[in-house]
Amino acid sequence: MADSLFTKIINKQIPAEVVYEDDLCFAIKDINPQAPVHLLLIPKKPLDRLSNAAADDQALLGHLMLVVGKLTRQLKIDGAFRLAINNGAEAGQSVFHLHLHILAGRPFHWPPG
Ligand code: AMP
Repeated sequence: MADSLFTKIINKQIPAEVVYEDDLCFAIKDINPQAPVHLLLIPKKPLDRLSNAAADDQALLGHLMLVVGKLTRQLKIDGAFRLAINNGAEAGQSVFHLHLHILAGRPFHWPPG
């Protein structure tokens, strides 16, 4: 299977502004930000979407959640941020490599519309 856009970014074939990296995941600034802070937290494992995660991804998914906490505390946005995962094209997914959108710096409404 061809490498995803995000695999190409982590392999430095495509440039991006990397703001966090560890053994399992990395975070970049979204190229088309929808809020003053818009990061994408991406597992290095190229899982295509959340609904295809398996039991052996449990630790990875938990790790991503803990990194969200760490990153948002570091950026001092932990008081108010939105976390979003678009799963499937009809839900707005355009890059088929799991990623968590972390958005902050403006009001967010619910329901999102
Ligand atoms: P989604 O639509 O949920 O799959 O999100 C994909 C996100 O990737 C979008 O918010 C895009 O703006 C973002 N994106 C696409 N290409 C790049 C890139 N080269 N660097 C950073 N973000 C990107």
